[in-house]
Amino acid sequence: MAYEHQRHRMVEDQLRARGIRDEKVLAAMEKVPRHLFVDGKLQDKAYDDGALPIGEGQTISQPYMVAVMTELLELKGDEKVLEVGTGSGYQSAVLSLLAAEVFTVERIQRLALQAQGILKQLNYSNVQVAVSDGTVGLPEHSPYDGIIVTAAAPHVPQQYIEQLKVNGRLVIPVGDRYSQTLYQIRKTPTGTLSRVSTPCVFVPLIGKEGWKDKESYEV
Ligand code: SAM
Repeated sequence: MAYEHQRHRMVEDQLRARGIRDEKVLAAMEKVPRHLFVDGKLQDKAYDDGALPIGEGQTISQPYMVAVMTELLELKGDEKVLEVGTGSGYQSAVLSLLAAEVFTVERIQRLALQAQGILKQLNYSNVQVAVSDGTVGLPEHSPYDGIIVTAAAPHVPQQYIEQLKVNGRLVIPVGDRYSQTLYQIRKTPTGTLSRVSTPCVFVPLIGKEGWKDKESYEV
């Protein structure tokens, strides 16, 4: 009950009050038990207005950022979505309530297995977790209606555009190691349309089309 109350306050004070308007996104974030996606010792902070550590130097993103990014996917309910950067599995759980099928890819096996376990336990059965380098997308299940990248990219990998359907949306933070800009990029019949959303700070997207493991910490 205490967590339900905290979750309700999170939705009203951090999301609705700051301009999140998609009622389906707000309802999904009111439902998903965020405290079960973090370590037991951090559960009391799960509904705070910030990111939290999840081990391996990675984070579960700030609730507001999860809401902004999810809203930019413009989901109606029947879509196939790819998430790059499974992390805790929290964003995947939110997406699972808003889309028909969710594929999520994580490069760190331990995080992927942990996320897979909690998603299964909580019955988010339309989510499939893969372990691989998500900077090249997940071609075997493409094309997608939406791709959401929850780590900071140095540029937009062309593979993401190729793996989107026409009118599909890519939501991605692009910038340097310390600060990025969140973009919504829509695939059109003739190219792409980019929209700038908000400044943001994410952990690095590491891989073939992302940062090299070493340079991401040296910049
Ligand atoms: N969406 C996550 C959640 O709800 O907890 C938060 C993701 S965390 C900010 C970013 C994640 O991206 C990290 O778990 C990191 O290991 C992962 N990542 C970084 N580069 C990646 C890559 N090339 N492929 C897949 N995952 C990657």
